Amino acid sequence: MLELKKVSRWFGGLPALEDVSFRLETGRITALIGPNGAGKSTLINCISGVDQADQGRIRLDGRAIESLPAHTIAGLGISRTFQNLKLFSRLSVLDNVLAGLTVTAERSFLLSMLRLPRLRHQERKLRLLGLEALDDFGLADKVDWPAAALSYGEKKRVEMARAFVSAPHLVLLDEPVAGLNNEETAHVARHIRQQRNAGHTMLLVEHDMDLVMDVADQVVVLDSGRCIASGTPAAVRSNPLVLEAYLGRMEATA
Ligand code: ADP
Ligand code: MG
Repeated sequence: MLELKKVSRWFGGLPALEDVSFRLETGRITALIGPNGAGKSTLINCISGVDQADQGRIRLDGRAIESLPAHTIAGLGISRTFQNLKLFSRLSVLDNVLAGLTVTAERSFLLSMLRLPRLRHQERKLRLLGLEALDDFGLADKVDWPAAALSYGEKKRVEMARAFVSAPHLVLLDEPVAGLNNEETAHVARHIRQQRNAGHTMLLVEHDMDLVMDVADQVVVLDSGRCIASGTPAAVRSNPLVLEAYLGRMEATA
């Protein structure tokens, strides 16, 4: 469904991504791993249109998207979370999730201003979608809390609920368990598995190797902007290149 062909991105003459090619399969979880600075977030930024590749092609169901702006790409059904949380801290948890429905929500807001019954009905429908998404991520009892009052782990889950609420074709998750304790990590892992069972396609950027081995169908390894290996979790785990270049180093710094 998503195909990357020789995607490159330079910052000030230094390559952050060099000729990265791989594809994502529908309904599968692809994990993107690699040490800090490998280019993982840059790749997610290029796919989501937050940043633009200097070279290469990115195709969504055959359509070139590498030059499209972020809102157009979101409209095509690619949603994401951010490595550094991006929540509206004073807004309620529910309103943060409803922000994931921006396009429809804007219209709904206008409609509700007009107080037309049909439009009020639509607003209620959106609210229900938001409540369902929050329930999916174990936050049903916090919908009216200001986002700022949540724990770090809960905030991560609000971002995920926001990414999934629009029923996207593809969700890009940038380190969803970074900074979480074991219990929260297990919680998030369960939600990721549930979303996959519901048929969602995901690109999961993650440092937590146990989580990657647990949930991923396919693993792509980046090192210094280059794709050095890809395959099943088992194949990647036993790939000598990966063991040497990456896992050893990771475990050494973990
Ligand atoms: P990862 O997410 O794998 O840790 P990043 O994609 O954040 O890695 O970064 C890859 C490389 O690109 C790093 O060397 C980083 O310093 C550089 N980089 C990322 N974004 C920018 C930017 N906006 N300006 C300059 N350099 C950047
Ligand atoms: Mg990153």
